[in-house]
Amino acid sequence: MRRVYLDHNATTPLRPEVRARLAELASGPPLNPSSVHGSGRRARQLLDDARERVAAALGALEDEILFTGGGTEANNMAVLGAVRAAGPGAALVTTVVEHSSILGPAAALEAERHPVHRVAVDAEGRPDARAVLLAARGARLVSVMAANNEVGALGPLAAIGTGLAELPPGERPLFHTDAVQALGRVPVELTEWRVDLASFSAHKVGGPQGVGVLYRRQGTVLAPLSHGGGQEAGLRPGTENVAGIVGGALAIELAAAEQADYAARTRVYSKALWQEVQTTIASVTLLGPAIDSAQRLPNTLCLSIAEADGRVLVTRLDLAGLEVSAGSACASGAPEPSHVLIAMGLDAERARAGLRISLGRTTNEQDIHRAVDILRKTFSHARKCS
Ligand code: PLP
Repeated sequence: MRRVYLDHNATTPLRPEVRARLAELASGPPLNPSSVHGSGRRARQLLDDARERVAAALGALEDEILFTGGGTEANNMAVLGAVRAAGPGAALVTTVVEHSSILGPAAALEAERHPVHRVAVDAEGRPDARAVLLAARGARLVSVMAANNEVGALGPLAAIGTGLAELPPGERPLFHTDAVQALGRVPVELTEWRVDLASFSAHKVGGPQGVGVLYRRQGTVLAPLSHGGGQEAGLRPGTENVAGIVGGALAIELAAAEQADYAARTRVYSKALWQEVQTTIASVTLLGPAIDSAQRLPNTLCLSIAEADGRVLVTRLDLAGLEVSAGSACASGAPEPSHVLIAMGLDAERARAGLRISLGRTTNEQDIHRAVDILRKTFSHARKCS
């Protein structure tokens, strides 16, 4: 049975170029960039080169790029680091639909008595920039995701960034975005967004897991979360994962260069998939921004199928050869309905019916036909059994 993988927002297949580079480095000499001998100097060169490539891909300076152990760590370093650096009482403004790696640190800050304001979203899953700006005055940090991992809604980053820049300097917070799902899918515009901090993850763009990037605008002060050697400007101490970073940097570079192509291709396929699904499954609705909206990720479809539990459907689809998610992959083992769908105003039953289909670089026309076929058969079977 040919299986179809449409869960690219959870993780992506390793790109062949990245796999080759990782294999090459794994069979080479040991790589500790802090060592002064020849192997160490080579490791330092590899690390410097990776930083240069990521900086160029993101339109940043080399010393603005910090390598981390993934998107989760980058988010923690930004949110906890920025707020704690400002001392007691410093406030965080974020939204109710953020990834758990933002909502978790937000809860931790609240437990430390930092005020936290979580801005609501509309029925498409987007926060209103004005509501964010209203809460932002005098806060230490505003953190709004660039693209939602479950429904694909894009955050109004440029409007928020512009509004924040108009606040008097003493009342102007730092601006962070979780751009993990945006990279390679929509343009990443650090300058236009006016962000001070932005998080990325290599495994969402064909790189290895456990490699992330925190963009930190020059002069942005963060309190370190861990302590040790001085690596990554003292903010991410520990011997660097050189091979992973080199592979991750290559994946990020390629994803940024191919973004327009990726978006065009996945947009065509996701539209075709939605049209097919709509005509074959009567009770299906598309959650998040409309299919033609410029405010959605091109690769992500979040469907709600009446009378079906998304998690049960995921298992049935898996047995039939189609790999997708119910809500976010991180939450799909949990009995709770998706916090994103609840925030968008769905009741618990409909929020449990959410099915996330996310396309990727390797998705082709055959995958779409097969996915439709499996969805149609599985869903009619699910209805007969319920
Ligand atoms: N932020 C978003 C929006 C994500 O979708 C994810 C992963 O699912 C993360 C952060 C965490 O990234 P990582 O898996 O690299 O820790």
